[in-house]
Amino acid sequence: MGGGAATLALLALAAAVAGLFGGPVLALAVFAAGVLLTYAFHLRNVQRLAEWTHEPVGTPVPSARGIWGRAFSDLQRRSRLAYDVRERLSASLERFREASQAMPDGTLYLSAGDRIEWMNHKAEQHFGLDAVRDRGVAVTKLVRQPEFVRFLHAGDYADPLMLQSDRRPGLTMMIQIVPFGDEQKMIVSRDISQLERLETMRRDFVGNVSHEMRTPLTVVIGFLETLVDGLEDFRPDEVKRYLRLALEQSVRMETLIEDLLTLSALETGAPAPAEERVAVGPLVQDVAEDARLLSAGRHEVGLDIATGDEDAFLFGSAKELRSAFTNLASNAVRYTPAGGKIRLSWRRIDAGAEFAVEDDGIGVEPQHIHRLTERFYRVDRGRSRETGGTGLGLAIVKHILSRHDAELRIESVYGRGSRFSACFPAARLVPPAPRRTRK
Ligand code: ADP
Repeated sequence: MGGGAATLALLALAAAVAGLFGGPVLALAVFAAGVLLTYAFHLRNVQRLAEWTHEPVGTPVPSARGIWGRAFSDLQRRSRLAYDVRERLSASLERFREASQAMPDGTLYLSAGDRIEWMNHKAEQHFGLDAVRDRGVAVTKLVRQPEFVRFLHAGDYADPLMLQSDRRPGLTMMIQIVPFGDEQKMIVSRDISQLERLETMRRDFVGNVSHEMRTPLTVVIGFLETLVDGLEDFRPDEVKRYLRLALEQSVRMETLIEDLLTLSALETGAPAPAEERVAVGPLVQDVAEDARLLSAGRHEVGLDIATGDEDAFLFGSAKELRSAFTNLASNAVRYTPAGGKIRLSWRRIDAGAEFAVEDDGIGVEPQHIHRLTERFYRVDRGRSRETGGTGLGLAIVKHILSRHDAELRIESVYGRGSRFSACFPAARLVPPAPRRTRK
């Protein structure tokens, strides 16, 4: 039986008892008073319920007695359930947004009509948008680059779009579009500027190598064709001269290939050995001797090893260090006119140790200095070629030094001379053996 019927029965009983003792008027009065009280009780609870619906979500439902008590506790249970589901949903939405924010790529969600719904910081940067301000705006009103608009409207998203940003110079993006749900789309943008730069470098490198090889090869082919066409027209000494010139060019190509192989081995090889001890004093003496041979008496080549530093050892590769030091010394010889002075030195410094080559040669103008270690970069192409340069020497030196945690420093005054120094950190120096104390 419902609570309403029980209340009615109770009222009828109270009215009947009152009727027995006081007559029908009293019975009616008791019954009316009961109905009024019951009505007030229900009205009060309806009012509390109405007030509760205006409270913030999660506010506990009011407590009550009787039928309202049961109804309220049922409501309380349902409201808690709904609240929990909502909390869980908003927590997972928040986690999803956090994950999207942390992504290294730009993510932009579009709703129907390609209107912006949400985007992460990367997408804001890539497209020059503002997640809050631009919400609800059609993306093509803000990103107007024709290639992008065409791509979005074409509807064929099998291949990504490569886009050079017109807002941020130097930014190249790979853009992918993934349609989902009901007319929704996800746009993923990736910054591929670095890859593009590497690709350009690779293309330039292949172009440079081909050019460097083609010049001597053209000369060799020219000589050979001339000889093949009329060997009998030339005197033996002329033939010999041609052959010698062809040989020179072939040696040039061989040197270039050797330098390229050295560079490639340095780039792909394992790090320089950290356990091999290199006796730098004798190594530097050999390098100075080679420089004297190359100079053939045209320069004064000196060597300066600070007292006490003759037996300083470095951890590293003797072969590589020799190649780097020889490159620096031979450059000094090649870029110093006859009669000039070249000084090699090896000494410990506060930060570790330094090998330096100083010359009073042609020097380098300041605007070229920071580019000297680029592959094939030469200040004076003609002079470099004449002296057998490949344009790869300093690139090799830089590589070798960085494999030894060392740094190449270049100081130069145009027309006065240069100083190229290799600075090794203290960690690369073999610590001196502890002195034995006599007992
Ligand atoms: P290269 O084979 O042309 O000498 P490097 O990489 O060894 O190539 O050097 C790059 C450029 O740096 C040279 O072409 C030259 O212009 C400049 N250079 C290097 N060493 C010296 C130096 N000691 N004095 C003046 N210029 C130098």
